[in-house]
Amino acid sequence: MGDCLFCKIIAGEIPAKKLYEDDEMLAFNDINPAAPVHFLVIPKKHIENLLELEESDTALTGRLFFRVKEIAKEQGCGGKGGRFVINAKKDGGQTVDHLHIHFLGGRAFGWPPG
Ligand code: 5GP
Ligand code: ZN
Repeated sequence: MGDCLFCKIIAGEIPAKKLYEDDEMLAFNDINPAAPVHFLVIPKKHIENLLELEESDTALTGRLFFRVKEIAKEQGCGGKGGRFVINAKKDGGQTVDHLHIHFLGGRAFGWPPG
């Protein structure tokens, strides 16, 4: 946790383009956007990934999803929609071990993902 990139963004040690913040979560633009709209919503609590989720954190994750929805609409993606993504561990392609919900929008995506 001490070395966690997203904990450092939460602590203000690494800058990020913040879109929303409250006492339990932070939203910011992805540094390497894969779509015209690409932001992340993270809990301030260091949870490694969804496979490590505790039942006591389920209400928090619900609020994270609600916030993704609100920001996606603010960014003009309410009509055409977009992609909510959570990568978990190695096979999921997770590169930062702090739970984050990606939102990607502003273009269409195929299914299944590659
Ligand atoms: P993952 O692959 O773990 O699901 O996604 C991690 C995401 O974090 C990637 O999309 C990557 O571009 C983004 N990211 C990595 N380092 C930084 C950073 O320092 N700042 C921001 N804003 N995003 C980052
Ligand atoms: Zn962390």
